[in-house]
Amino acid sequence: MAEDQVIIGLEVHCQLDTKSKLFCGCSTDYRDDGANTHVCPVCLGLPGAMPVLNRRAIEYAMRVAKALNCGVREEAEFSRKNYFYPDLDKAYQITQYDKPLAEGGYLEIESDEGGERKILLTRIHVEEDPGRLVHMGNNERGKYSLVDYNRAGIPLIEIVSEPDMRSPKEARKFLNKLRATLEYLSVFDSEKEGSLRVDANISIRGSERVEVKNITSYKGVEKALTFEIARQKNLIRRGQRVVRETRHFLEAQGSTQASRSKEQEHDYRYFPEPDLRPLHVRSWVDDIILPELPDARRERFIAQYGCSLNHARTLTGELKLANFFEEVVACDPRGLSMLASTWIADTLLGELNYRGMSLDLVDPESVTKLAGLLRNKTITDKSGVEVLRVMLDLRMQGEPAQAPSAIVARLNLGMTKGETGAIASAITEAINENPKALEDYRSGKAGALNFLVGQVMKKTRGRADPVELNRMLAEVLQERGV
Ligand code: ZN
Ligand code: MN
Repeated sequence: MAEDQVIIGLEVHCQLDTKSKLFCGCSTDYRDDGANTHVCPVCLGLPGAMPVLNRRAIEYAMRVAKALNCGVREEAEFSRKNYFYPDLDKAYQITQYDKPLAEGGYLEIESDEGGERKILLTRIHVEEDPGRLVHMGNNERGKYSLVDYNRAGIPLIEIVSEPDMRSPKEARKFLNKLRATLEYLSVFDSEKEGSLRVDANISIRGSERVEVKNITSYKGVEKALTFEIARQKNLIRRGQRVVRETRHFLEAQGSTQASRSKEQEHDYRYFPEPDLRPLHVRSWVDDIILPELPDARRERFIAQYGCSLNHARTLTGELKLANFFEEVVACDPRGLSMLASTWIADTLLGELNYRGMSLDLVDPESVTKLAGLLRNKTITDKSGVEVLRVMLDLRMQGEPAQAPSAIVARLNLGMTKGETGAIASAITEAINENPKALEDYRSGKAGALNFLVGQVMKKTRGRADPVELNRMLAEVLQERGV
């Protein structure tokens, strides 16, 4: 129904992966160090300290602007956004207001109906990250918060989309695609804690807009939006009004909660930052040479390796995964790519997810070897999964790695080449133990045959050569006059 249409827009803050902060020389590599160790008069906002713009941060932002098809302004400008909060020691944030670095642009995602869909962008601007509050909860000293300014002054880009997404799933796809694009551009590291934060605007057509602030995980975005849609639809169904407000996402509960009323834009008393000159960088655009981006790499994977569209999408959806795949098949792209794309995109990713394990722990060479064993039919697909599981478990437990061939030998997983005796006796056993299946097969139930194949596979611990097994089973059934 049209009046139930969901409208979602995102504001995405991404930390740019520069070496130093946006307006001073402090290192951005703060995460493993003690609180307030990466600070100086500039990022502490001490009176009289002057900001000096980090050219590299602007270069990174320009790369993003070009990759996302934005128009770069002839003149961009930094502004002061005035508000007080303990994580913002100088009581204003240096950001961009009415003259952002870039405007317009779009990002293509796979739509819910299949095919590609353009999500339009409003703008990209550059700003500084505030510090970080650490809430200490209740203890003998009462409830209090600590503040760490190591994060203050880390360069951010804020990417603002048009209210162009129609479901939480589309919002997730948008974020995944954005993350991949930024990683391909080498300007962003999604694995750094807190490197991406999202505010989402969401409304049901015809109702007021609600803003959900500070979603800090990729999964959180889909969860927060799903919760918010249900909450708003419920209000409407009961004849109540959705109030225009700002809400906070509570990650642990998977719900949102009304928070302080949002400042109006004029409360911020924006004015041009007097300590920084306007930016004239549009001419840089022509000098930027973009690397291969996710869409181009996806199309290349299809053309060069024969990957299916879905596998190519999955494999190129993360820079690390795409590189991993190309490493695995490098020695024999013709022989291995079809097999490896299925094994990596489906089997390996599934096993990693199940274990909550990172791809970093997997050695591409061992996957090449495993793919080789599958390709030359040393092992069946079923045994292949078993070998992979053993490999991953060894890594998880920090044990020394074992070559796939060594695991096959140790567990006796080799395919039963020519071991027709073993298969024959397994077939006999399976039939004798399951007279019902034989009856079913006689009366024309095709499923009964699959059941018997499964039983024989089980008895041979998944080692039976599937071609041989099917041929022999057909023979036996024929002998029995079925
Ligand atoms: Zn500093
Ligand atoms: Mn912002």
